[in-house]
Amino acid sequence: MIYQESQGKQFLTSVHHYFDEAARHSTLPPGILEQIKICNSVYKVNFPVEVNGKVEVIEGIRAQHSHHKLPTKGGIRYSMHVDEDEVIALATLMTFKCALVDVPFGGAKGGVKINPRTTPVEVLEKVTRRYASELIKKNLIGPGMDVPAPDYGTGSREMAWIADTYHTFKYGETSALGCVTGKPVGQGGIRGRTEATGLGIYFGLREALQDVEILNQLKITPGMAGKRMILQGLGNVGYHAAHFCQQDGVIITGIAEREGGIYNPDGLDIEAVMKHRKESGSILNYPGATNVEKSVDLLEYECDILLPAALENQIDEKNAARIKTKIIAEGANGPVTQPAEQILLSRNIYILPDLYLNAGGVTVSYFEWLKNLSNVRFGRMGKRAEEASLRRIIDTIETSTGKSISTKERQLIIRGADEITLV
Ligand code: GLU
Repeated sequence: MIYQESQGKQFLTSVHHYFDEAARHSTLPPGILEQIKICNSVYKVNFPVEVNGKVEVIEGIRAQHSHHKLPTKGGIRYSMHVDEDEVIALATLMTFKCALVDVPFGGAKGGVKINPRTTPVEVLEKVTRRYASELIKKNLIGPGMDVPAPDYGTGSREMAWIADTYHTFKYGETSALGCVTGKPVGQGGIRGRTEATGLGIYFGLREALQDVEILNQLKITPGMAGKRMILQGLGNVGYHAAHFCQQDGVIITGIAEREGGIYNPDGLDIEAVMKHRKESGSILNYPGATNVEKSVDLLEYECDILLPAALENQIDEKNAARIKTKIIAEGANGPVTQPAEQILLSRNIYILPDLYLNAGGVTVSYFEWLKNLSNVRFGRMGKRAEEASLRRIIDTIETSTGKSISTKERQLIIRGADEITLV
């Protein structure tokens, strides 16, 4: 199932079902609820790009789900399976994610129909700059309007191209760098943004594995050490989440990727697997591991933590009954469909939802945006600015978990946040 048709319609229906389910607990009038649910605007554009002397037409989309707070915020995805419904569904999730962790943005998302793995870098740059130009000329992005970020298939390189294109159009505009987040540190980015989503997933899991209620419900021992994990997706999010979990003693027994899966009940070293993939071009044939031809089968292997960190709709009503984990950690956006969730909950499988678990990325994006708006290098403001930022991270965790953080836990977070020292 991984990396096949994204089934955007199914995804959007699922997100709307989740919304309707939550809305039943609200006393807001139906019209207001409808306005909160609906996507405010979608911009679709087709533009020509020359590839090897031939003109190709590329499709780009940007959906701004909610303008209740500006700017809107959300990543840009590069994939051949991008479609309007998928982008709207992802933008919708961004609105609720930002609300949950209390960062003052509306939700947005973008997509470009292109395969980033097979497209030459020069073409990717042309496409990115043209897509950005299309949004800029319609006044659709900007520090106070809509601020993109990386998502599936994009990273700091694409964000730097977008920032540079914006700067060319809006030469001299104050805070122009705040038009996009996830930039390289040397170009207005912030240290730790790359790791942030993965680190947030680790924090969320660690929190869950200390929660007496969850431990009793699942009948598992506290702590990360010794827990067995299966990971789907070795991209930026999956890799960093696995890296921090492994550092805390988690045993990664299976990894699923587009080329197939690998499994070793004694554990796979995430850094060594990354090295092997870099050298051989594939995770397959990793020494000591068994190849799993259909990587999606790995989702059904027994483990304590299943971490889907790739795409939406990976666990649906077809495979939900066969999932054999205790916890599903939603690293990706929308990896579990709403009908599948019903099945999993009835089987006492605990789901850590995407809105909460993968919100580390947008949280650190917020600090990057603030830094760009204030046009200041945080380090220059000295220790006080860093402390203020750390306090904001702690506030964010307290807001989203609804719990207050003890002094001991604060120290742990600050130690963890050494990784995301703001410069
Ligand atoms: N693409 C990320 C997400 O889905 C990050 C969004 C951002 O930083 O704006 O949360």
